[in-house]
Amino acid sequence: MKVSCKIHRGTNEIGGTCIELQSSISRILLDFGMPLIGKSGKSFNFADFRKLSVAELVKQGILPNVHGAYSDKPEIDGVIISHPHADHYGLIKYLNKDIPIWLGEATHRILELNNIFLRQNNKINNPKYYEREKPFTAGNFIITPYWADHSAFDSYSFLVEAEGKRIFYSGDFRSHGRKAKVYKWFLKNAPQNIDCLLIEGTTIGRKQEDHRTEDDIIDELIGLFKKSVSINYICTSSQNIDRLVSIYKACLNSHKTFVVDVYTANVLEALSDFARIPSPLKGFSNLKVFFPYRLTTNLFKRGLGKMANKFSKAKITKDEISQNPSNFVVLVRSSMKNDLLKITADNGSLIYSMWEGYKEQEMTKQFIDWLKTKNFKIYNIHTSGHADIDTLKEFADTLAPKSILPIHTFNKKDYKNIFSQKVIEINDNEVINI
Ligand SMILES: [Zn+2]
Ligand SMILES: [Zn+2]
Repeated sequence: MKVSCKIHRGTNEIGGTCIELQSSISRILLDFGMPLIGKSGKSFNFADFRKLSVAELVKQGILPNVHGAYSDKPEIDGVIISHPHADHYGLIKYLNKDIPIWLGEATHRILELNNIFLRQNNKINNPKYYEREKPFTAGNFIITPYWADHSAFDSYSFLVEAEGKRIFYSGDFRSHGRKAKVYKWFLKNAPQNIDCLLIEGTTIGRKQEDHRTEDDIIDELIGLFKKSVSINYICTSSQNIDRLVSIYKACLNSHKTFVVDVYTANVLEALSDFARIPSPLKGFSNLKVFFPYRLTTNLFKRGLGKMANKFSKAKITKDEISQNPSNFVVLVRSSMKNDLLKITADNGSLIYSMWEGYKEQEMTKQFIDWLKTKNFKIYNIHTSGHADIDTLKEFADTLAPKSILPIHTFNKKDYKNIFSQKVIEINDNEVINI
């Protein structure tokens, strides 16, 4: 008896992860992500391919060539999504709607908000929710999700069992975030007798950042906020909940009000049903909601005004911010430039709290340059969403697999120098028997 594994995408790149596992009677997919990097080596822009048919997208290597995933007669027993980052779920709209999609309930809520606010169109007809440490089945595969510490909310790793084989997929993870305890718990309770470990290697080959913890981030933000005499703008992902909580806590400590836009407010509100997260609707009074013009008018035009209006009690205007700019820390992004033009505040700070690589994007570059012309000081305060080398090694040693398959990495060649287990270097679309 054997299980075979084919990595459709991920052996040579970060993003667009898709893994196919096949037993004698079943086939499942782990993740179904959108690429982050295009063939040119520049960041991938799906708008360039939006109009293509499924067949064309497969031909161009955008959609993975998975037999029975798109056809009228589905031949896939389940697609398991590890977490709500688009490089792990971004292409699910192309899947045959009858294929069961397994994901965390909070992940599904995030995907639904992304459909509205990011126009993603990833509607799932029949979502199936998994829960941590509760095994579920897809065909004859038994899958056990393990909660993971990552920059996305509701992230998981998986033990996948079939026909006597035990495969572990790390998903994306780290050990220095707000769920550090979850990682520690995993070290003590990790499954054993693993035949093969698919482990992400995002930071392999990258300059190893000093892996500050999220609590270190809070301290750095407090230091900055306390000495600031004008407004603080901060750039981070509306879905990096760990970071939003860090900013909120730093604001509390330094007596500032944290201002988020309508999209971020909706994300916080939805996820506050799952964990103690500051939400403008749940009595967190130093959290205010800013209504960006374009985003808000767009919601109203589409009959979705209630997504903004529900925050009217927590609303703050540009004029109110302009009256006392040093009281506020405002979450911003480049698309909000026209709104920021109407806030009177010079000599402020922009805290860039995302991966450095995104700074290369033209819109972001222009936005930062524009703030520089207004005498804003630029600070970088960030920590990675991914495990450093020591953590990757510790994770692999704990699981002690018979073999390792590199995934979600640009540097699989370095794996053999890092891990003490046997590393099997394969390419996309190669089949390996486990
Ligand atoms: Zn990823
Ligand atoms: Zn991720």
